[in-house]
Amino acid sequence: MTVLSHILGFPRIGLHRELKKSLENYWNGQCNKNDLLKIGRQLRMRHWQQQKDIGIDLIPVGDFAWYDHVLTNSFMVNNIPDRHRNYAGNDNVDIDLLFFVARGGYNNYKESIAASDMIKWFNTNYHYIVPEFVFGQKFELKWIQLLDEVDEALSLGYNVKPVLLGPLTYLWLGKTKGNKFNKLLLLDSLLLVYKEILEKLAKKGISWVQIDEPILVLELPNEWKEIFYHAYFQFKDNIQLLLTTYFDSISHQIDVIREIPVQGIHVDCTIKDNDLSVIHKKLPSNWLLSAGVINGRNIWCSDLYSCFKQLSLLTSNREIWVGSSCSLLHSPIDLSNEVKLNKEIKNQLAFAIQKCKELVMLRTALNEINDTQYQHALQQYSIHKCPRLNPSIIRDELVEVRLENIISTKHHRKHPYEIRKIVQKEYFKLPILPITTIGSFPQTEEIRKMRLDFKSGRLDYYLYCVNIRKYIKKIILEQENIGLDVLVHGEIERNDMVEYFSEHLNGFIFTQNGWIQSYGSRCVKPPIIIGDVSRRDNKEITVKWINYAQSLTNKPVKGMLTGPITIMSWSFCREDINPKIISLQIASAIQDEVMDLENAGINIIQIDEPAFRESLPLKISAWSKYLKWAVESFKVCSSLAKDSTQIHTHMCYSEFSDIIDIIVELDADVITIEASRSNLDILECFKEIKNFNSIGPGIYDVHSSVIPSVEYFTKRLYKIFKYISIERLWVNPDCGLKTRSWREVIHSLTNMVQAVKKMRKNI
Ligand code: GLN
Ligand code: ZN
Repeated sequence: MTVLSHILGFPRIGLHRELKKSLENYWNGQCNKNDLLKIGRQLRMRHWQQQKDIGIDLIPVGDFAWYDHVLTNSFMVNNIPDRHRNYAGNDNVDIDLLFFVARGGYNNYKESIAASDMIKWFNTNYHYIVPEFVFGQKFELKWIQLLDEVDEALSLGYNVKPVLLGPLTYLWLGKTKGNKFNKLLLLDSLLLVYKEILEKLAKKGISWVQIDEPILVLELPNEWKEIFYHAYFQFKDNIQLLLTTYFDSISHQIDVIREIPVQGIHVDCTIKDNDLSVIHKKLPSNWLLSAGVINGRNIWCSDLYSCFKQLSLLTSNREIWVGSSCSLLHSPIDLSNEVKLNKEIKNQLAFAIQKCKELVMLRTALNEINDTQYQHALQQYSIHKCPRLNPSIIRDELVEVRLENIISTKHHRKHPYEIRKIVQKEYFKLPILPITTIGSFPQTEEIRKMRLDFKSGRLDYYLYCVNIRKYIKKIILEQENIGLDVLVHGEIERNDMVEYFSEHLNGFIFTQNGWIQSYGSRCVKPPIIIGDVSRRDNKEITVKWINYAQSLTNKPVKGMLTGPITIMSWSFCREDINPKIISLQIASAIQDEVMDLENAGINIIQIDEPAFRESLPLKISAWSKYLKWAVESFKVCSSLAKDSTQIHTHMCYSEFSDIIDIIVELDADVITIEASRSNLDILECFKEIKNFNSIGPGIYDVHSSVIPSVEYFTKRLYKIFKYISIERLWVNPDCGLKTRSWREVIHSLTNMVQAVKKMRKNI
């Protein structure tokens, strides 16, 4: 049987971030809707053609999204929250409404309307817009982007494989509004829409649909497991369905899966537990098996020869496709654009385009199994592309010895929080409800340009420092004017919270264009960890700037660091090194930085860990192993700090309720946590936990352009009081302010401070 190649999706943002740029231009009124639609069309066409030129057999269609594919799906089934739908006073379901749901804004009566919640997509750093469900809701086919794009691709002559987010994963990812109810009550109505779409696709001559049900890798409650059969039974005669899973193994659920009436399954073969020979034995013999052997989430070349040997045992017994493990949404686009990388390392990397080429090589060798030249080529590929990296580039004996010590020590602050609290109270003399921010201030065009000029050598180091100081001064002055209690220096020297630190660490390298979509128009450029990690020349990274900021004010200035789990998770790591080791090495470097800050007289230090939750394994049974070293890594950073040094941490855009007691275990003196997008739902958990330290639940959404009023803040505070006692409470926005304008920031923070000041008088 002929083996076919496919990928689960291509990055949509564009090699030069064209989608990002035109989205932002559109939002700023600098281009019109037609220009935006045109860019989208051009990107889709370019990506389809690139795949075809390389030789990919089935082209995914439906992987493109204007903001997020989960949001597209909500529109497809006409699931649009009333507060957004009614904003224009008419029933226009258009792209502006889509952006309104994603970003919030003002309705026709000048009332501010909150965006929908946004959280991370499984264990990735991609954020999706959370669907909202209400009891008794009915769905209907509304937004037919998928069908239009399928027509578009068919008319251009591509061999189309539509991509659809499966109904059960879609329901699972959403949250209920109003009185709690079982989301599965909505399933039947939802299935009608899916049925209609599948019928329409079948009419267009489509033979296979990739239907993504990544929740099948989770340890699902029985009720959810069992309903898969019922759901897919409804589609059984429509079209062939490739039930698509990724990010973890399905071995625990294979008995359930084999009963689902579909025609094929895709498994993520980068996961050890997904043993193809075992899965093959257990699957119905007439099912197609799509093997996701090329890692869609990392940038290293694949060991094609090993893949070949494993797959060649199956191809005579079963219909096989070879594919990327997951969508290439999580991979940068094209390595050939990188001209600055070390040759030896570049030779071992593969981005989306190169991954497509790998798939085609593998497919060809499997189809031409009797022609040894193709196997020989794979063998050569594996030898040349997957050697261990040169040890002299990547090993550092000192770091490795230190790691041994770190591993054999228990890391705790000297005294428990109850004692530290008293020391700190005396030391800082902060008012009740201390007010602070999460770290960054607006990153204007001017600041970005200045940083870029410095990087490219157009601005010398001296002038760069003069400039940075100028901005820090402005930021300190503004914060004093607004009346905040604990100030920050504003992070203007940082392009990105991970890239900045890794640029000052040994063991990291950087791409020029390795952009990945994080949410909406926002992209990140993850560094690559190639070897042992320590501070460059053992030199401080942040002290000079924080010190300068502190010299300008009598109020405490908080030192801002990125934590080890976040630095690791938002980088591409070696696949052959245990993540625990990488994380503890980074933690040692951050420990050094904490000590240098403390020695310089900085007594409040925030260690951001926004990736802490997203890096949790998807299977609950694997949590405790991860959490043990993740918590340890955080404590390595902070444990040597004096009692009077107040350690903060910050987390955001995740589902925290299930790890609250772990967050408590980090033993940070203050936790600031994003909570406003989810309407402070998280507070419920803090009610039950008695022994947590201080907490600053994010009080407003920084990712929306809405400026909250004094009344809004007052109401929020009253709500928070119900859950958290006043003496433990801090007041802060829910994340950094770098994406906002100065006008918005000054306005919002001033209202926030006003509300707190009034409140202090009342208490
Ligand atoms: N300190 C960072 C900032 O303010 C935190 C960002 C984040 O949580 N993602 O930008
Ligand atoms: Zn944040």
